[in-house]
Amino acid sequence: MLRQYELVDLVKSYDPDADEDALNRAYVYAMKKHGAQLRTSGDPYYSHPVEVAGILTKFKLDSTSIIAGLLHDTVEDTDATIDEIRELFGPQVAQIVDGLTKLAMIELKSKDSKQAENFRKLLLAMSEDIRVLLIKLADRLHNMRTLHFCPPEKRARIARETLDIYAPLAERIGMQEIKTELEEIAFKELHKEAYESITARLNFLREQGSNLVPAIIKQLQKDMEEGGVKASVSGREKSPYSIWRKMQKKNASFEQLSDIMAFRIIVDDVASCYQALGIVHSKYHMVPRRFKDYISTPKPNGYKSIHTGVIGPENTRIEIQIRTQEMHEVNEKGVAAHWAYKQGEKVVGKNFRWIQELLEILEEASNPEEFLENTKLEMYNDQVFCFTPKGDLIGLPVNSTPVDFAYAVHSKVGNTCVGAKINGEIKPLRTVLQNGDQVEILTSKAQHPSPEWDRFVVTGKAKAAIRRYVRANKREQFVTLGEQMLERTFKGESLEFSEKGLIAVLPNFEAESVEDIYAKVGEGLVTAWDVLRAVYPSYKQSKLGKVVKSFKVRGFGKSEKKSKSEPLKIKGLIPGMAVHFAGCCHPLPGDRIVGIVTTGKGVAVHSIDCKALEKFASEPERWLDISWGEGAIEETHIGRLKVILANEPGALGDLSNMIARSDGNIANLNITNRTLSYFELIVDIEVKDLKHLTDIIAALRSSKVVSYVARANQ
Ligand code: MN
Repeated sequence: MLRQYELVDLVKSYDPDADEDALNRAYVYAMKKHGAQLRTSGDPYYSHPVEVAGILTKFKLDSTSIIAGLLHDTVEDTDATIDEIRELFGPQVAQIVDGLTKLAMIELKSKDSKQAENFRKLLLAMSEDIRVLLIKLADRLHNMRTLHFCPPEKRARIARETLDIYAPLAERIGMQEIKTELEEIAFKELHKEAYESITARLNFLREQGSNLVPAIIKQLQKDMEEGGVKASVSGREKSPYSIWRKMQKKNASFEQLSDIMAFRIIVDDVASCYQALGIVHSKYHMVPRRFKDYISTPKPNGYKSIHTGVIGPENTRIEIQIRTQEMHEVNEKGVAAHWAYKQGEKVVGKNFRWIQELLEILEEASNPEEFLENTKLEMYNDQVFCFTPKGDLIGLPVNSTPVDFAYAVHSKVGNTCVGAKINGEIKPLRTVLQNGDQVEILTSKAQHPSPEWDRFVVTGKAKAAIRRYVRANKREQFVTLGEQMLERTFKGESLEFSEKGLIAVLPNFEAESVEDIYAKVGEGLVTAWDVLRAVYPSYKQSKLGKVVKSFKVRGFGKSEKKSKSEPLKIKGLIPGMAVHFAGCCHPLPGDRIVGIVTTGKGVAVHSIDCKALEKFASEPERWLDISWGEGAIEETHIGRLKVILANEPGALGDLSNMIARSDGNIANLNITNRTLSYFELIVDIEVKDLKHLTDIIAALRSSKVVSYVARANQ
């Protein structure tokens, strides 16, 4: 284990300005906090964070990262708090440790390999500061190095997780070295036999004298010198894991794999890379389809190199990689290399396409610390990842709500969702989801998608499903209405109304079914009379009048209301205070009423179920408890009705007559909507009281021209 002064010396060796005091305090703090805790290896626990810090020094990371590495497990595993760490080590260290603690708490339970991809994205999205990720990887690397101390049943799970999540993550940010080591350890754990047989085979070949690596290195080095290219050549057998992967990918046996050796030619600059390539290709036969130029077209993670396969020295098939020293470091150390280069005042080029934005910050930042401080991972910040109760991860666009989540799980879940539990608590369906939230959707078979949802959902799937439902639902209403209107029209003319008759005229209306015709009539696209004329072409139109555009009916027009000049018989009013009937609900004697004290206009009388009363709910002092007094029935009041009337000749006259026969007087009449087949009206009628109005309603309902009548409350 690294001693305290050794760690500090290491950091100071590449960063002379490092905060020595803070490093010392962090070392002691971690040691004290973890106290007597032990690792499964029997080592004191604090050896783990110290080793993690040691790994981080290999990447020459800043002292903030080293300190956060020392403290990374204190909040999760000891009584240390983020506040304490902030106080002792500053906000940056605290923020990084906080990020690491959050990462430690989420866990992928699902075994589905597709889920691993989402989980990696979640880790990236949650690691706002790239140092969180670097420390997480160093943490995992040390845990893998000490994996053999773990109980066997835990080892496989950790190794699998490493292969599925952390090795690809390391590759994603270009940390080849960490990736390779993680893979090798995990491979050895998960596929012990394969590992052992490949290793044994490699050993056998070496003993057979077929370890040609040194000889080939020597020859390639000589080739470069003769060609006038300054280069350093290295070579190695490929790792057991990469051999195994190739065996799997090519479905080949070990013997069938010809290139188990890889050589690397490192040169000074890009021009020398192509010169070296020329030397290799002029001297050795190329293996077809093995040439790849990742210098002109780097891999998405920023990897740059030239790869080629040749029948090389000793007549052996080999793979050769050609690159500059700078490319090499970036390939091996990834994003950390950028920092190291910046530190040495050597700003590298745009090696990472996926972190173009980061590089811009890097180039504008005046010092390396500023680079790391300002570097927020921009990746996946347009997405959030949430868990199902079973531990599956669902990726959604940012600002998604539980309704989006429900539709992402399954349309059926979306259509029937009534509520959501987020991290165990019931939350409104419009709540915006956060990374790592666990979401449980509550469903009910009686629920339907609500048009309201359309206002807050963000995913296309949810929007489409809600709109589809609302459309279908509207159609249902049109179908019902259209059928009623047709039936009424036909029966009104004493004509038979049958589906058979309608089927015969489907083409006339470009309809595919009788329902289509109903829907068209209900929606007002086709009139009931159009349909009637189509079904009975010879029917005399004698009764069909023109569409009524203007009309005069007895009793129309504003009547003088005597009621206002006479004392009102209402109990509970304040003597001397003005009083009027609210226009919103038109209360009638017999209605339960309430008075509202208005500003400047006295008391307004509302019916108790008037919607306008909601506005005054928080002002009980303005409410007056009132009721109708004796004799009030001598007065006349305005009752307001909503009426839907068939658009037929004389229908309005019939309406007026019926009201008059019931001793009502039409005070006002407004047509609010008119189609070819029906009128929608608001009718104000002078009545004595509620019973009087109810009688009129009953009379109207018995008429065949009235298809709907009810009191209008607003
Ligand atoms: Mn740890």
